[in-house]
Amino acid sequence: MERTITMTEKDCYEVWENCLKVIRENLEMQTYLTWFEPIVPSRLENNVLTIQVPSRFFYEYLEENFVELLRKAIDLALGVEGRLEYTIKPEESMPNQKNFSANFTKSNSNNPMNGNNSVNQTEFTEKYRELYNYTRLNPNYSFDNFIEGDCNRLARSAGLAVAQKPGITSFNPLMLYGGVGLGKTHLIQAIGNYVTRYETGKTVAYVSADKFTNQFIEALKNNNLEFFNHFYMQVDVLMIDDVQFLSGKERTQEIFFHIFNHLHQSGKQIIMTSDCPPIELKGLEERLLSRFKWGLSADVKQPDLETRMAIIQKKLQERNLEFPDEVIEYLTNSIDSNVRELEGAINSLILYSENNILIDMNLAKEIVQSLVQSVDKKEVSIDEVQKYVAEYFGLTIEDLKDKTRKKEIVLARQIAMYFAKEYTGFSLKSIGYHFGGRDHSTVIHAIQTVSDYIAEKKEIKMYIDDLSNKLNKK
Ligand code: ADP
Ligand code: MG
Repeated sequence: MERTITMTEKDCYEVWENCLKVIRENLEMQTYLTWFEPIVPSRLENNVLTIQVPSRFFYEYLEENFVELLRKAIDLALGVEGRLEYTIKPEESMPNQKNFSANFTKSNSNNPMNGNNSVNQTEFTEKYRELYNYTRLNPNYSFDNFIEGDCNRLARSAGLAVAQKPGITSFNPLMLYGGVGLGKTHLIQAIGNYVTRYETGKTVAYVSADKFTNQFIEALKNNNLEFFNHFYMQVDVLMIDDVQFLSGKERTQEIFFHIFNHLHQSGKQIIMTSDCPPIELKGLEERLLSRFKWGLSADVKQPDLETRMAIIQKKLQERNLEFPDEVIEYLTNSIDSNVRELEGAINSLILYSENNILIDMNLAKEIVQSLVQSVDKKEVSIDEVQKYVAEYFGLTIEDLKDKTRKKEIVLARQIAMYFAKEYTGFSLKSIGYHFGGRDHSTVIHAIQTVSDYIAEKKEIKMYIDDLSNKLNKK
């Protein structure tokens, strides 16, 4: 108590300097310079040290990442009764800057911490904030809401291992690869969110390779390259989504190579995603590719039936909704190659349902159709293909789905499957499902047979041309 009373204005610098000693011992220089050098102590009263930070963002960042370290520093400098408060430097434009400086006491001028002038600090924080905002995570992606299946088990468990011990496992870098809409971004962000949540003090940056490239170009343009480098080199976990977009961008690759090496050498974690395995990445420098192979590559495949079902169920459970079984079955069977589309269809149906519209097969079909078409820009639905082909051959749609092996019906069925492949965005498996639950190999066989006929049999070529005309005119 006595001590506080005798403290003068100048003491707050001494106390803060003592705090900084502790902080310096515990942080890397880069991090220290970035986050602690810009701070100015402003007051010490009743064991409360007030420090001034350049922005609200800065304060939030400190609180989010260094709160334990600050506590330790205050304990040593002021004792356990000591407290820390922040004031945020008002964000002024140049003319007001003067006023702000005037608020400082004389001791300001001999403050060793005050080497940066205020303008630089503001600029610095601005730049930092910009990059920080660009590299933020989407908090909605977590391991909890990522459904595990055979298709993603390795990727998920490697991801979780890395999230629990970033930089420590041999999965460094971790590369997750696979086709579009299969959950790579979800998974990589789940890792980031996990680290942020359970590993306080660790800095995480998530950025798509595209954005990274743009930031790099901006930095080049604005002469900020040093800052750009510095920003990425101080993170603990760097996550680059869709690295295939670095293809052909030599200068971006070069800077990424340096950042990569720096982080890897300092035991920091690097995680990347790509739309293909590292060996197939085209237009990437060999030295970068060889780095990618150091760690672990895990693929995310197309989800199997159970996983698709589980994804739908989870979505419905979250909303406390139930759909008819046949609708769920229809959805899982119609959209089998892309989780994003599957989610799109469920979300649309959920929206209808929440507006008290009855969810039935017709609505489900309509929605699936519009999704599948918008992706492939095809105008014809599988129902229509079946209708046109059945009519053309004087059959019913049921005949096409039936098990019957009558020659004419088999031919019509095969032709219908062929058109379903040509005109709709459905996968082979889905087409099989829509033709009486047949296997996808049956569909492949049908398409192959029809293609052979077209080449060899005039009559069948004529049917196909005729039907194409009808479907095109539809
Ligand atoms: P990618 O990055 O591979 O193109 P995304 O991660 O963007 O795919 O996934 C597309 C959508 O599908 C996202 O909304 C994601 O949440 C969802 N998704 C993908 N896989 C799963 C999964 N296994 N469980 C739950 N949702 C998933
Ligand atoms: Mg993605």
